Amino acid sequence: MLCSPEALLQKNQTLTDTWDRYLASPSFENFVELAISINSFTEFLIDKGIAALHHASHQLEQVTLTLFTQEVEHPLPQAAQDDLNERVRALARLTQARANSSLDTLPRDPVFIAPQSMRSARAWLIGHQQASWSELLTQLGYFGMSTEFVSWDQPVADSADAAPLLLLDLSGLPASEWHERIQTLRQRFGMGQLIALEVASDFDQLQLALKSGCDSCLLTGTPSHAVVEHIMQLNECHDQEAYRVLIVEDSKTASHFIHRTLAEIQINAHIVNDPRETLHALKQFNPDLILMDMYMPSCTGVEVARIIRQHSEFLSIPIVYLSGETNVALQVDAMRLGGDHFLTKPFNPVFLNTIVKSKIERYRALRRSMYHDSLTGLLNHASGKHTLDVVLSGIVHEGGFLSAVMLDIDHFKQVNDRYGHPVGDQVIRSLSWLLKQRLRKHDMICRYGGEEFLIGLPHTDAEQALAIMERIRHDFSQIHHPHGDSHFLATISVGIATYPLVQTGDALIKAADQALYQAKHGGRNRVCSSDD
Ligand code: GH3
Ligand code: MG
Ligand code: MG
Ligand code: MG
Repeated sequence: MLCSPEALLQKNQTLTDTWDRYLASPSFENFVELAISINSFTEFLIDKGIAALHHASHQLEQVTLTLFTQEVEHPLPQAAQDDLNERVRALARLTQARANSSLDTLPRDPVFIAPQSMRSARAWLIGHQQASWSELLTQLGYFGMSTEFVSWDQPVADSADAAPLLLLDLSGLPASEWHERIQTLRQRFGMGQLIALEVASDFDQLQLALKSGCDSCLLTGTPSHAVVEHIMQLNECHDQEAYRVLIVEDSKTASHFIHRTLAEIQINAHIVNDPRETLHALKQFNPDLILMDMYMPSCTGVEVARIIRQHSEFLSIPIVYLSGETNVALQVDAMRLGGDHFLTKPFNPVFLNTIVKSKIERYRALRRSMYHDSLTGLLNHASGKHTLDVVLSGIVHEGGFLSAVMLDIDHFKQVNDRYGHPVGDQVIRSLSWLLKQRLRKHDMICRYGGEEFLIGLPHTDAEQALAIMERIRHDFSQIHHPHGDSHFLATISVGIATYPLVQTGDALIKAADQALYQAKHGGRNRVCSSDD
């Protein structure tokens, strides 16, 4: 995920401003504000993958949290203030340096469609011998990454990409040099991904590589297809809607505070001060989690939860209780009803954010598994068909083209028969990576059946769809699928049908399938359009 230097600087400025406000008026309230903005900045760094700054920000967060108790009086003791001041200023300097070093212009090859879900389409391999890595670099190329080999003795060119992928071959580089070499790269490419290759399975070595700034390490002997797999999976990110939280809380002060805290980490919240409005709000707002006050004038949080759980669609939504005191009996009742957690007032905002985020992540993962295929992570058959209909109705409404694509791997039965089912699975997975890499964010990709995929390309006419799929067909045919010490090749056949020539979702699928049939009968490894 890319981030502009301006956005980074602005985010850090907010943090510094909050600290200055605390210095001017050192109250507990202003300290809470500080904790919130530090947490927000740290989350931002994690989200954008800016490992170089994360360490300093995380340390600052830890120090702030240890001061976040009722016993600590404000203003803070001078020593604590000085320490915080030093850390805030150091973080600001680091951020400035980082922003200066990263050019955020990302020139895109106009023929190349914006990748759907990849962080970076550019990779450098830094090592000793190009020959030992050429196979890996070639394979990455087929997945749409442009790659370059750089020797350890050579300087790495300034990247025009704000978040390049750096693969570091650490074999042959003495461990005494690792720290300096890795740290230098980390500082220069703060927003990049650093992956160490050829690291021994050794505690000290792994610790050194990770501590110096690597995001991950691949152990000695990892085969090149597994390296490709790791990179593809790492770069895959689930772009998703903002999290939604429903706050059921009678106190306006408390609900307002929570609302603002959540907003700092881009969580949308909706407040219900009267518990009677909960059901209506649930249906309207469709939250990912409920924060439920334990004590309200008209009823308890447990009663509201019981009412919510009478509705099957809300059976699994996580509920986190907010309780002032520790009433064990009520807490036991709440847990029996599937209450997920308790937060006691006054809330530590960092704690609140972290719990809410992790619960929602788990809940969304659960829901994702209902609509997505487990092998590839793509939409499954039913949700793919449904999504195509939804996309089509949008196109019908606003006007334009929609191309539907049916795609099938050629002679796939033979792949299974010759190399085994697990190898076949891997071929399906690499095709799905290629599709995710090459198609745009708003394109729909679905694993329609075993080795069959359905794709929806909005605002794409038949001719454009043909060009896009032709390129994907060609590149897939070049991918080396590993088997033992060797490899094999595979091909796909593709059929295309386009709205408005074909009018409904079902008809599009049928017409694309017929075009696919033509492609198969025309000799496979080709793209046909139903227009032809
Ligand atoms: P064609 O070129 O005509 O498409 O030939 P084909 O062999 O690909 O077509 P066919 O439909 O006869 O065979 C598809 C095979 O795909 C049969 C099935 O065992 C296999 N298959 C389906 N789903 C999976 C899966 O998830 N993993 C693996 N490894 N194989 C699968
Ligand atoms: Mg209350
Ligand atoms: Mg097939
Ligand atoms: Mg098939």
